[in-house]
Amino acid sequence: MVLPRDQLLNNESVDRYRQLLAAGIDRVAHRIGTTDKPFTGVLPADLALEIDVVDLDTPLGDAAAALDELDTVYLRDAVYFHHPRYLAHLNCPVVLPALLGEAVLSAVNPSLDTWDQSAGATLIERRLIGWTADRIGLGPRADGVFTSGGTQSNLQALLLAREEAHLRSGGSPLRILASSAGHFSVQKAAKLLGLESDHVRHISTDDEGRMRPAALATELRRAADEGVTVMAVVATAGTTDFGSIDPLPEIADLCAAAGTWLHVDAAYGCGLLVSPTRRHLLAGIDRADSVTVDFHKSFFQPVSSSAVLVRESRVLRHVTYHADYLNPARMAERNIPNQVDKSMQTTRRFDALKLWLTLRMMGPDAIGALFDEVIDRAGAAWSLLSDDPRFEVCARSDLSTVVFRYLPAGRALAFADEANLHARDALSASGAAVIASTTVDGRHFLKFTLLNPSTTVEDIAAVADLIAEHAGRHADEAAGLRLSPTGS
Ligand SMILES: *Cc1c(COP(=O)(O)O)cnc(C)c1O
Repeated sequence: MVLPRDQLLNNESVDRYRQLLAAGIDRVAHRIGTTDKPFTGVLPADLALEIDVVDLDTPLGDAAAALDELDTVYLRDAVYFHHPRYLAHLNCPVVLPALLGEAVLSAVNPSLDTWDQSAGATLIERRLIGWTADRIGLGPRADGVFTSGGTQSNLQALLLAREEAHLRSGGSPLRILASSAGHFSVQKAAKLLGLESDHVRHISTDDEGRMRPAALATELRRAADEGVTVMAVVATAGTTDFGSIDPLPEIADLCAAAGTWLHVDAAYGCGLLVSPTRRHLLAGIDRADSVTVDFHKSFFQPVSSSAVLVRESRVLRHVTYHADYLNPARMAERNIPNQVDKSMQTTRRFDALKLWLTLRMMGPDAIGALFDEVIDRAGAAWSLLSDDPRFEVCARSDLSTVVFRYLPAGRALAFADEANLHARDALSASGAAVIASTTVDGRHFLKFTLLNPSTTVEDIAAVADLIAEHAGRHADEAAGLRLSPTGS
């Protein structure tokens, strides 16, 4: 009989630990090895039936039964990002060295708040922060910390920017300038920081979705005239929809002239830091005061793996609080490295280990080459759809998205919006592919986000055909039903 304490990982349970994890890995490997669709198309209400009948107070006891059940409640109907026809969001297939890291870090289970809970884990995280800051070019006083994601990195960066702005400007009202194509987490962060929604001003973008420097200059002048302090300009290096990179050198010039904090949200575009051929697209990022990077997007890392970097390590003091039980000030005086002094979290995962093992087994160029490959593939997909009269395609991305829509012929064109949305839902329901949608100038468009080097141009072409079929049929039916002459 297995006693409760036998389920704890310790010196007596290491054999069961080996067997149990091997059994779990075996199930996942089986699913990944045999799944022929990115998604089964299961509906939430149907899957909820399976999950709701599970009696959480009556354990199954053994691993095999629990894994059988897991297959039904989760693995069978999971969304599989490794599948070449998963084309929806910024989810990447994950590299094996990072999975090794994930297994190690959760078993040892350090917490990165203090040295005395983490030891080498803290030093490894610090090395990776230093490595990332060097790749960005932030200079000798740079620092930062791993976070749970881009949302939290943006929040922390804007918190630091706000505190610095307060010091400079006293009590004058604050404003954030971000492009209209920036990420919504900037608005969330502003709200958490106590700003009103109209304190985030959106700067217009050009046809490629890049912030217009002239519009930024105008807004900076306007703020000065109004006696408002711009606490941060948020530039985006890789917008979520269009993969557009704002003109960082021009924006950095304007920020420098205005004495304004520049935050660069490179949650998506950070993979260019290791690209063997496209690093130049990030030119100017080295002039940022803070940078968000999401390793769990373009570094092929499992969720979570993200970091916020700052040019001046001293600004991190704005999140430093000392607790007698945990990180008393005397420890900082003795240079004991307690990462909680730099973080908004307390207990925190050793996510850095995944990136560490990735760099140690594969190296940065190999990761960059994978990202390059998906950017090339997105370029090929863009050309394919541009040459296809059935589709209208938005500007070509700097990164790996393609935004487009199916254009129904003739009078069915009036139903373009609903036809495109229908195609997205129909694809998902069939499980043949998972794609995303967004709006452009108020119209519904579809979106491919490519992060999987296994996706081929043939996959793209096949999915495009399916979209045209679903959308075309829907638009024709709608036109036939709703536009037919009345009384005939
Ligand atoms: C994904 C994304 C974010 C949010 O990052 P999470 O890791 O999902 O919290 C922020 N900014 C941009 C540009 C993104 O693409």
